[in-house]
Amino acid sequence: MNWKHMTEKQIIRTARKLARPFRITNGAKFRLKDVDPGDTLDFSPDDKAELKERLAANGIRMLAALQDKLYADDKWAVLLIFQAMDAAGKDSTIKHVMSGVNPQGCQVFSFKAPSVEELDHDYLWRCVTRLPNRGHIGIFNRSYYEETLVVRVHPELLEKQKLPPQLVGKHIWKERFADIRHFERYLTHNGIIVRKFFLHVSKKEQKRRFLERIEDPDKNWKFSASDIAEREHWDEYMAAYEDMIQNTATPEAPWYVVPADNKWFTRIVVAAAIIETLADLDLKYPQVGPAKQKELAAAKRALLTKK
Ligand code: ATP
Ligand code: MG
Repeated sequence: MNWKHMTEKQIIRTARKLARPFRITNGAKFRLKDVDPGDTLDFSPDDKAELKERLAANGIRMLAALQDKLYADDKWAVLLIFQAMDAAGKDSTIKHVMSGVNPQGCQVFSFKAPSVEELDHDYLWRCVTRLPNRGHIGIFNRSYYEETLVVRVHPELLEKQKLPPQLVGKHIWKERFADIRHFERYLTHNGIIVRKFFLHVSKKEQKRRFLERIEDPDKNWKFSASDIAEREHWDEYMAAYEDMIQNTATPEAPWYVVPADNKWFTRIVVAAAIIETLADLDLKYPQVGPAKQKELAAAKRALLTKK
């Protein structure tokens, strides 16, 4: 196939094929060890240049076209959640994949450690206020899932949450998973489509990227000493991620577990997943009725007859 001249249908079909192996809709069977962070499907590093071009030529263009319809239709909203260990490439994936979309229809929020005001509320509060409007794509760079990740790995964070002590029992993570599942179902019933991405980087590749951040002066700003401290908890994080995906991957709000040791591959899978999601909505530009058509004809006449 000459991919430089792919039709929309061909792009969507290719996107589905690329995204499918990484989409988890039933958490029960999920095992993190089954996903190789270095996986690149049938592609080899030699295909990297071509894939980059393919993403630029087709993927980004397709995403822009679909987003334009989402915006015009103004009914659905799409929430894309990104979770990962440090240096897995969340920021750069978001930057590349969304590079062609109209900024007017896209909102990105990064969730850091909660503020004093945020800790004075339930943990979904700060996320609820940032949900995307209809017609928009909302991106959460980290999210309420941190409540089952960093907070689980560091129990002292849970203590700061001012929860009534009798509510903090051994079932708290199961309860959080259930609440999150129900919340995402609620969003789905409201026309907010939720898709979640775990960029799965290996511990070895993270080390390489950290060293690069330390050695390259232009990347120094990205490095923080706390990143090394979190790395010490690698296995606990992996266990927390696995449990989170097992408990929150559902048909209406699937997780995509995306191999993240090769950035060119991560980007193409994430773009494919977003294309697949938007294509499933079967978006159409709103068609105008007879009254509006009359109005358009009258406006055209007026424009053409007057100077
Ligand atoms: P980068 O990948 O570029 O380092 P980042 O997303 O890691 O970006 P940071 O400035 O390092 O950004 O801050 C995010 C930190 O906030 C993470 O360590 C994360 O675990 C923490 N965080 C996010 N949500 C919560 C939460 N609900 N409770 C406690 N900590 C949280
Ligand atoms: Mg960080």
